[in-house]
Amino acid sequence: MAEFTLELNDDQKQVKEWLHGFAADVIRPAAAEWDEREETPWPVIQEAAKIGIYSLDFYAQQFFDPTGLGIPMVMEELFWGDAGIGLSIVGTGLAAVGVLANGTEEQIGTWIPQMYGDADDVKVAAFCSSEPDAGSDVASMRTRAVYDEAKDEWVLNGTKTWATNGGIANVHVVVAVVDPDIGSKGHASFIVPPNTPGLSQGQKFKKHGIRASHTAEVVLEDVRVPGHCLLGGKEKLDERLARARERAKAGGERVKNAAMATFEASRPAVGAMAVGTARAAYEVALDYAKTRSQFGRPIIDNQGVAFQLADMRTRVDAARLLVWRASWMATTGKPFTSAEGSMSKLYASEAARDVTAQAIQILGGNGYTREYPVERMHRDAAIYTIFEGTSEIQRLVIARTLSGMPIR
Ligand SMILES: Cc1cc2nc3c(=O)[nH]c(=O)nc-3n(C[C@H](O)[C@H](O)[C@H](O)COP(=O)(O)OP(=O)(O)OC[C@H]3O[C@@H](n4cnc5c(N)ncnc54)[C@H](O)[C@@H]3O)c2cc1C
Repeated sequence: MAEFTLELNDDQKQVKEWLHGFAADVIRPAAAEWDEREETPWPVIQEAAKIGIYSLDFYAQQFFDPTGLGIPMVMEELFWGDAGIGLSIVGTGLAAVGVLANGTEEQIGTWIPQMYGDADDVKVAAFCSSEPDAGSDVASMRTRAVYDEAKDEWVLNGTKTWATNGGIANVHVVVAVVDPDIGSKGHASFIVPPNTPGLSQGQKFKKHGIRASHTAEVVLEDVRVPGHCLLGGKEKLDERLARARERAKAGGERVKNAAMATFEASRPAVGAMAVGTARAAYEVALDYAKTRSQFGRPIIDNQGVAFQLADMRTRVDAARLLVWRASWMATTGKPFTSAEGSMSKLYASEAARDVTAQAIQILGGNGYTREYPVERMHRDAAIYTIFEGTSEIQRLVIARTLSGMPIR
């Protein structure tokens, strides 16, 4: 009778258990090593590919779960295993989503398989949008794409930064400016095929956390890509630009709001990653508090410790519920009238940052060492309040959505 349920169905439970097994048996044991090496964990990605966790089919199946809980469940379990390795496994998905969202069927069929490769020869892909002077302020992007009509080629010039898998990717998806007069509506996305001359990796960043995930600058110097590498095609771009120019004349803010709405839908997935890291740290802290004795009793017998654990668990569960709500809304076509996508990412990312810090405190000196995983989890958790829109940008989006003010 009652339709409302927060219980996973049997299929979802099965997938969750399977993912959890991979996270516990393969990812978690490898986490410390790849964090120290600060390199892409190719063997782990290969293991994931062998059993079907690293493939477009798998993510598409989860994406089309009618409850909306498929993707959050995947993210939570993989990132429970480890955030750096988790991002190495799902990072290609950012680029794949870029192609799925904007590409033609032919482009999807051509490029996405090349992003993943296969279990014997795994590949990764990169989504390159951020630039040194265009982080939160995406509209100030400078990388230019100019059409060479005689050759039916696009010529890309600029520097991208912070690209996950940038420079090591088989396929790069690059966002560039085609019309600088209409803000982010004058942007278009391009495929840069494998081994295209002019694309090179700039600095590889040495990071605070998620160190198993490769992050680098991508330099584009007269990179020529065939006309068919423009995602969606030229005709569609010309129509879209003409509409955007008209709308910009009528009232520019509406143009920018549409772009923000797209980001809203992807934010719960980052929230789910944060839930995974927070839950992992909470579990380590709970076990430790039950087994570590001081003053002749387990430290969890002290209210000061037990209450921290109560707060930690409450925040993990609250974060998950916000993520599930936003994912359910996105999947069932409910409009984010109160920026629910941003709310979920904001709350979950700050919960992960705080819960992992509390976990270090509960483990005392051990928590501060690399012998235990919580210091790594805390370093990893710091990313969630930064990428896919900082906490400040989430608050800005929520506040402006609530007040009815333009987002920009
Ligand atoms: C590990 C990692 C991986 C990443 N992966 C990718 C990727 O694959 N592809 C990609 O394109 N990008 C990626 N990014 C980029 C990421 O999305 C940006 O770092 C993020 O959007 C913030 O931009 P920024 O670093 O330039 O910070 P800035 O925009 O310079 O912000 C600096 C500070 O100012 C605050 N601030 C800025 N504007 C406002 C405002 N209007 N109101 C209040 N506060 C404000 C911010 O909240 C922040 O605290 C990645 C970043 C990292 C660190």
